[in-house]
Amino acid sequence: MFYQESYNCMVYKSNPKIVEDFDFFIGTLNRNLLNKISVSLIVEKIGVQYELAKELLNYFESEEILEKQFVIVCPCEDCDQILGIISFDEMDEFIRETKECFNCERDNLEIKRENIYVVYKRIKLATTSQEEIADTLEERNVISKRNDDINFIRADLLSEDDIYKYYYNPNKSALQKLKKGYDNLKNHYTTTTQKGSVLEELVNEVFLNVKCFDTSMKYRTETNQIDVTVTPKIKVIEPAVLDFLIPYFVCECKNEKKVSGNTYYHKLFSVIESTDARVGILFSIESCAKTCKIIAREKYLSSKKYLINITKKDLQKIIDQELSIFQVLKAKIDAISLSSNTLLKELGLDYK
Ligand SMILES: [Zn+2]
Repeated sequence: MFYQESYNCMVYKSNPKIVEDFDFFIGTLNRNLLNKISVSLIVEKIGVQYELAKELLNYFESEEILEKQFVIVCPCEDCDQILGIISFDEMDEFIRETKECFNCERDNLEIKRENIYVVYKRIKLATTSQEEIADTLEERNVISKRNDDINFIRADLLSEDDIYKYYYNPNKSALQKLKKGYDNLKNHYTTTTQKGSVLEELVNEVFLNVKCFDTSMKYRTETNQIDVTVTPKIKVIEPAVLDFLIPYFVCECKNEKKVSGNTYYHKLFSVIESTDARVGILFSIESCAKTCKIIAREKYLSSKKYLINITKKDLQKIIDQELSIFQVLKAKIDAISLSSNTLLKELGLDYK
């Protein structure tokens, strides 16, 4: 094969032929496609299902053979001009500054998520020797005659999951730090302040791992002290759940065995009631009483503000099972406004 890494791909065990084809395709890419490898292109060229194509691309990305890039296409209906191929870090600036298309000559362009496609760029050449490559080519008896047309389809669009991953993707050392904080929850502490601050620090640490979040601890209002306040910095392309979280949201942390929650829910609501915050989160060890759910629903109906509960079990999902914090927040918020626990159940989160 062209890449040694291909042998270690999970798919190789169950389906070596697919990995061989994929490896061959990436190894012999025609120059025009080097930075425009999309999921739909793999589906078409290798003849695999969408999910499998995605898995192969993700694997090559994790092995640093491919790098993810984003194609910005002109938002005008009758124009499919590619305006730029950029990295995620460049996206905000690019979208703010790109207002004209030289193809359709329109200006005041408004680029949205539906104008952004995900592609991969090959960044690593084959690991095999030139002779081996020549042998493979001869054996396969193909001299590249692929057409260069790039047709993006819906499947290639920038997805909400891509955005989540961009904003929240803690590396190994960050996860280790979170695990340590999580393990500290079960230690014995002599004072309630010490015990409480362990959970506050962990919550703060989780949110610090989100690229667009700023946090502050122990914020004092005239009447209350808020354990953790989180302020998202607005970007052009942002996760949809951020609509609820701006301009800021507040967290109350209770590192106590049993939390009925009613009192805390009322206190949390009084904190957000008179402010611009729309979400108040109660972090607790056990999930709080069923009555809290009724309070949350009532408060939502009367004020469109959300009271949610994130438990130790939910934190474990985030830290051990690497569930995105955005998925957790979205599921909890949806459960109140849509009165549906389906997503919570799917993600294995506590029903609150
Ligand atoms: Zn155009």
